Amino acid sequence: MYKILHNQIKNLKLQKHLFLMIFIAFCFSVLARLYWVFWASEYPIFFWNDTLMISTNDGYAFAEGVRDMIAGFHQENDLSYYGSSLSTLTYYIIKLFNIKIEIAMLYMSVVFGSFIVIPILLISNEYKNLKIGFVAALIASIANSYYNRTMTGYYDTDMLNIVLPLFIIWGLIRVSEQKRGVDTIIAPIFIITYNWWYGSGFSLIMATITIFFIYTIIFERKNLLFYLQISLLILAVANLNLYIKFILIFSFYSIIFIKNLYNKKFIFSSLAIALAIFTACGGLNPIIFQLKFYLFREVSEVSNLSFKFFNVNQTIQESGIVDFVLFCERISGSVPVFLISIFGVLLFCFKHRSFCVALAMLGLGILALKGGLRFTIYAVPIAALGFGFFIVSVAQFFNIKDNRIFNTIYALATFLAIFPIAEHIKNYKISPVFMKSEVEILDRLKSIAKRDDYVLAWWDYGYPIRYYSDVKTLIDGGKHLGKDNFAVSFALSQDQQSSANMARLEVEYTQRNFKEKFGLNLNKMLSDANSTDINDFLNSLKNKNINLAKKTSEIYYYLPDRMIYIFPTILQFSRLDLQNGKSWGDPLFYYFENYKQNENGIQLGGNIILSNNLTNILLNGMNLNINTFFEVKTNENDNLEILKIQNDTNSKLYVIFMRDYARFLVLDESMLNSTFIQLFVFENYDKELFEPVILENSAKIYRLKI
Ligand code: MG
Repeated sequence: MYKILHNQIKNLKLQKHLFLMIFIAFCFSVLARLYWVFWASEYPIFFWNDTLMISTNDGYAFAEGVRDMIAGFHQENDLSYYGSSLSTLTYYIIKLFNIKIEIAMLYMSVVFGSFIVIPILLISNEYKNLKIGFVAALIASIANSYYNRTMTGYYDTDMLNIVLPLFIIWGLIRVSEQKRGVDTIIAPIFIITYNWWYGSGFSLIMATITIFFIYTIIFERKNLLFYLQISLLILAVANLNLYIKFILIFSFYSIIFIKNLYNKKFIFSSLAIALAIFTACGGLNPIIFQLKFYLFREVSEVSNLSFKFFNVNQTIQESGIVDFVLFCERISGSVPVFLISIFGVLLFCFKHRSFCVALAMLGLGILALKGGLRFTIYAVPIAALGFGFFIVSVAQFFNIKDNRIFNTIYALATFLAIFPIAEHIKNYKISPVFMKSEVEILDRLKSIAKRDDYVLAWWDYGYPIRYYSDVKTLIDGGKHLGKDNFAVSFALSQDQQSSANMARLEVEYTQRNFKEKFGLNLNKMLSDANSTDINDFLNSLKNKNINLAKKTSEIYYYLPDRMIYIFPTILQFSRLDLQNGKSWGDPLFYYFENYKQNENGIQLGGNIILSNNLTNILLNGMNLNINTFFEVKTNENDNLEILKIQNDTNSKLYVIFMRDYARFLVLDESMLNSTFIQLFVFENYDKELFEPVILENSAKIYRLKI
């Protein structure tokens, strides 16, 4: 009797401690994220609508969805994220707390990202030692890669992508440790939530369930409860309607409350039914597909495209070999803490076998060594729990009974582990995606363009343009394969007539494609033009009088100054022969912003020197004549003024000095004549094709007249 009472009191104390520690760790995590706000608030250019702007491009996709949900409608085929998980959550947060959308976008990651401390401390609570979880919560909530992707203004699904699977792991550990039927509902509920939140989480869930299954077979094969848990898990991952899934899970779950059903026969029939439902809904298909792919290499690259477009992966510069130090720092803040953490995880699994269910998540993070650094985030909380366990184990090993000595060691270890992470936070100063001047322009466009009009712009600007201007775009952060980018790249890099024709064709065929679903736009354009040769067809776009598709909406060209820096990359997508995929070779295009002048000439950068009389340029050891030198600047009347010095008409080399931007461009004839350079740098537009709408230094917008 006394013992039970004693345990009850101990439990109550632990619960009180648990809430207190969650509260402290949560506040710590929030405060650490406010450092960025403190830093960024110094810059008025980061503000829009009196609020700091977000720092993730994809965030604008969800923001567009929220804006449309608040409005209650969106346009057909506008690619809006209306009803997506993050947009829906944001919508309810805004309604519930009556806050501005900008505030929700800025601070949701701070609050939701910090929720990570809850499952960490709950897991640690299952092992009756909150000291494991407290230091782990402090480290995990701010360790480099987790911080980077849940910092203030990082408005993305990442804010719950780690929190939700951790709750699943907690549910499974709780069942393994306490062996109580009521707890079997925790993991399935969080699996369904995680599934809704982030569709790509399927493999992590499957791996975790597999480990739990193996754990059951080895350690708990006689315990019926574990088979019931597995049935519920299988139902939770089945490819079924959300509501049907809930009903099924709760009816299976009710078995534990009905005494005479809780027997071997019934539980195993439930398991069989769950498996049958899972298989019938195609649950094994992805697994079979993977097996075929890896074991038999049967699935060849699906390629029914008749053209060879530029492969986007070629522009992503992610080297195969991951820097090991960076890898450790991203997971645990520093190399020593990472190594101790991994040792701690092994020790943890050895001492408490149920902790093994966390290994899938750790494994996914360690995959980063092969799959790229973006995966490290998954390993963060598990590694941190390993660190916490190590500290506590050391104290037990040396039999440190004195609380004061233990607390001193604990505080010191926490401080040493967190110090390098704090340094990282201090140095990680990310700017918002767009600056105020750019948003002002898009805001003006919103009142000029109609919601069904298209804006032709590079994919980097797709989501923000759609959010701020409420228009449609051709490409965006989720639609930017070689085949998607080709037309936009072509329109920016070719002469104005070709550009205009391509823009009109691409927009109208994109619109038609939503209904007619004819596959590749370019294929359809070719067949409609009765052409069989792609190069002939593209050449024919130079003609004024080609047969164009019927105009259904306006098209605006969005040309921001910042595009200068990525122009060479943009060009790669259209400067190739689509028949064989061979590149035409790099065009000559350089920009220089750090130059200095002396008696030898203007040192542009590297070994590139422009002669002081502006006639020659020393390039790669060759002294070349310049065809024409241009100086472009805005005069006192706010008009663009162009000064020309022609030198050698046979040369194909041109130099532009953009005085307002203190920038030199060195480029060849094809680049000079490209639509982007003509429209943005010179404002030299073909009056029959384009009409300027907004001309500002940070971005220029033209309306297509055909
Ligand atoms: Mg819209």
